[in-house]
Amino acid sequence: MSGVRTRFAPSPTGHLHVGGARTALFNFLYARHHGGTFVLRIEDTDRERSTDESTRAILESMRWLGLDWDEGPYFQSQRTGLYLEHVERLLKEGKAYRCDCPPEVVEAKRQKALIEGRKPKYDGTCRARTDVDPSKPHVVRFKAPQTGTTVVPDLLKGEVVYDNEELDDLVILRTDGSPTYNFVVVVDDALMGITHVIRGDDHLNNTPRQIQLYQALGYPLPRFAHVPMILGPDKKRLSKRHGATSVEAYRDAGFLPEALVNFLARLGWSHGDQEIFSLQELIDLFDLDGVGRSASVFNEDKLLWLNAHYIKECPQDRLVDLVRPFLERKGYDTADRGKLAVLVEAFRPRCKTLAEFAEKATPYFVREIEVDPAAAKKHLKAAIAPVLADLLEAFRAVERWDVASLERAFLDVVEGKHALKIGKAAQPLRVAVTGTTVSPGIFETLVLVGREWALERIERALEMARARAAG
Ligand code: GLU
Repeated sequence: MSGVRTRFAPSPTGHLHVGGARTALFNFLYARHHGGTFVLRIEDTDRERSTDESTRAILESMRWLGLDWDEGPYFQSQRTGLYLEHVERLLKEGKAYRCDCPPEVVEAKRQKALIEGRKPKYDGTCRARTDVDPSKPHVVRFKAPQTGTTVVPDLLKGEVVYDNEELDDLVILRTDGSPTYNFVVVVDDALMGITHVIRGDDHLNNTPRQIQLYQALGYPLPRFAHVPMILGPDKKRLSKRHGATSVEAYRDAGFLPEALVNFLARLGWSHGDQEIFSLQELIDLFDLDGVGRSASVFNEDKLLWLNAHYIKECPQDRLVDLVRPFLERKGYDTADRGKLAVLVEAFRPRCKTLAEFAEKATPYFVREIEVDPAAAKKHLKAAIAPVLADLLEAFRAVERWDVASLERAFLDVVEGKHALKIGKAAQPLRVAVTGTTVSPGIFETLVLVGREWALERIERALEMARARAAG
C-alpha cells in the first residue's frame, strides 16, 4: 500500500448520477493505480435533503459499477462530536467568533451591498466582539484573513489565486448547532488522511475557503485536482434536462457496467486514441496527466457503441444471466437456459442494449406477434403462397418437432417439389414464424417457437401472401 488516499464523498440527496459516478471512478482508479486506499464518505449533514434511500441507491450503483471502496462508508451525521471539537478549538484560539447578528439584519446588509455594487459579504460586526452570549442564539464564523491572497495549487488548473478580500467570514456552525459543509469537509479530509481530493470543478470556488480552514486548523493540505464538468450535447452542463443521467437508469435500460465504466473513464480522460479499456487496463493506465483541461461532452451514441461492443464480447453464460431480468420484467418464462443461450448468440451482434435484446426475443416468448410490415412486403409475396401452403402441410405431418425432421420436411418441399433455392423459402418462412428477418437458424427457430405457435404463424403468413395474390 502506498500513502495515496482518495475519497468519494457523495451527498445522499438523490441517485448516483453520471457526474458523481465519474468522480467516484477517477478517485477509485487513482487509488488503485497507485496502490493506495479509496475511502467512501457519505456527506449527510443536510438532514432535510439526505435520505437513507439515496444512500442505499448510491452504494448499490457503486457496487454495480465495481467501484469497491477500501474504507467506509463513513457518515458525517455520526461525526458531529469531532466537528464540534474543531469549532471549539478555533474559538479558543481566536480563529473563529460567535456572531449573534439577526439573520434578517445580515440579509438586509447583503441586499444593500448588492444594490450598491459591493461584494455582499458579512460586514464583520461581531468579529472583534467578546460579549456575545453563548447561551443565546448565534452562529460561529471563521475569522478569515482579510488581506493578501489564497492560492489553490491545482494539479489540473495550475495555481488559482483568490483575493482574500473577496472571501467571507464563513459560518462554520449554524444557529441550530450543526456544522456547515465547507468546514466538515476539511475536518474529514484532514482526519481521514486524504492525500488527493479529486472532484468536479464546480467545487473549485470552495477550495480557497477550505484551504484557509486547513491553515487555521494546522493540518497539511491535500493535493487538489478539479476535473472539468461534463456537458450535454447542447454544450450546457449535464443535468436532468438531458434525460436519464443516473447510473440506475442506465442499468435498467440494459447497459453493462463495464460499458458505463469505460465510457465514464473517457469523459475527461484519455490515453492516446484508445477507446476500449477493461477495468484492469484503466487501473494500469489511469493517472491525472491523462485528464483533459476542457469540459467533455456526453455522447450517448458512443455509450451505445461501447455497450454493443461489450455485449458482443460477453461470455455466453454471463450474457444469459444479464438478459434474464430484462425478459422477466416483460413477463417471459426464462426457465429454459438452453433457449436463452441460442437467442443471445443469434441477437448479440445486433443489440446495443439488453433491453433491445428482450425486444428482439419477444417472438419466442409470446403467442401473438407483430409482423414487420417491411419484411412482409418483401418476403410474403403472392408467389411464395404455394410454397408456404406445402410447408404448412409438411410440418403438420412431422412426427417429431426437431431440427432434423423439420429440415427433411423443408427440403422435400422446397428443393424436391418446388425446385427452389433454400434461401428463397427460408427467409419468407423466417418472416412468417418470427415476424422479422433475423433469427437463429431457421430449423432451430421453428423448434424454439414450438409446433403450435409456428403452425399458427405460418398459417397467418399464408393468408397474408394469398391476400397479396388476390389484391
Ligand atoms: N458532497 C459533495 C458533493 O456531493 C462533494 C464534496 C467534495 O467532494 O469535496 O457534491
